[in-house]
Amino acid sequence: MSIGLGMPGIRPTIDLATRPASPALIDRFGRVATDLRVSLTDRCNLRCTYCMPADGLPWTPTADLLSPDEIARLIGIAVRELGVTSVRFTGGEPLLRADLVEIVARTAALDPRPEIALTTNGIGLEQRAVALRQAGLNRINVSLDALDDEAFTRIARRPLLRRTLAGIDAAAAAGIAPVKINAVLVSDVEVDPVELLQWALARGHELRFIEQMPLDADRSWRRADLVTAGDVRRRLSERYTLVPDSAPREGAPAQRWHVHPLGRADTAPLGAVGIIASVTEPFCGDCRRTRLTAQGTVRACLFSHDEVPLATALRTGADDDQLADLWRAAMWAKPAGHGIDRPGFAPPQRSMSEIGG
Ligand code: SAM
Ligand code: SF4
Repeated sequence: MSIGLGMPGIRPTIDLATRPASPALIDRFGRVATDLRVSLTDRCNLRCTYCMPADGLPWTPTADLLSPDEIARLIGIAVRELGVTSVRFTGGEPLLRADLVEIVARTAALDPRPEIALTTNGIGLEQRAVALRQAGLNRINVSLDALDDEAFTRIARRPLLRRTLAGIDAAAAAGIAPVKINAVLVSDVEVDPVELLQWALARGHELRFIEQMPLDADRSWRRADLVTAGDVRRRLSERYTLVPDSAPREGAPAQRWHVHPLGRADTAPLGAVGIIASVTEPFCGDCRRTRLTAQGTVRACLFSHDEVPLATALRTGADDDQLADLWRAAMWAKPAGHGIDRPGFAPPQRSMSEIGG
């Protein structure tokens, strides 16, 4: 049997005959996915230059998005049958879903209950942080690329810094700790990583720098322009002493560093910082992620060129065992790595906000 399984858009090139009879989401390279990213919408209220075009994208009609029932059913299959232990809701902007609190609550009611996380730009979080916490949200990452209005607006193309900051404060006040802050540095807008780190340390948030990947809708990513993990570490090391966290990384994208006052690694750390070097120090060999797009297709990798339309199968009557097997087959086809540095690399057709970051 081939991976195509009669589904449109799936290249019938991967032989499934060699797939082991494992219940887990195992791939041809022995990696097992336990961490599920669910995109709840491809809509967004920002237009970050590294993600969306200035004019936005044709949004998926609301009726075609996964419904709360479908989300609960698919995540239920993932945790009961496929070994998924953690779920992160993302997008687009997941706070644009009016039913987000319900989706979190239904996920929290599953048995076994997965860890539940959210990645958001924080706009509107001020009004919903407490309800999300009460619904069972365990962890949150809020994206914040700059601390001054002008730089934020140049990157996000919307003057909404204050609302993101209010969302971060609300998440912390609701007891979601630590709040993690995601920052992508771009070469054409000057942002001081030390200033961002000082700001995060002062509030007890954990900052994570993310290297920009070629997933922008504008296709303007250039390897030569990249602000690299090495650049960030160099800048931070002028001000702090960074000591690598010795705890096992367990497939986490971020390498964690304990942050000490400069030259004082012997003192208690001021906090921690994570650096996600997806491009220059890829961690594909230990990837544990599987993805559901907002339309309910499975993507084995951010950089996959193929998707398996799980929601189509669900809507045409597939039972849980059939859906689980489709999901396993999709993951079996996962590529070894993103290959950004290889000659002939082609970014996926869909950009970050459409895939779900
Ligand atoms: N809208 C939410 C947000 O911004 O947090 C969730 C979706 S967004 C796609 C998830 C994460 O992906 C954000 O932290 C964002 O900064 C990051 N991201 C978007 N495009 C990226 C790119 N081209 N390279 C690296 N990270 C990117
Ligand atoms: Fe929207 Fe997040 Fe993409 Fe920015 S990174 S445009 S906030 S989806």
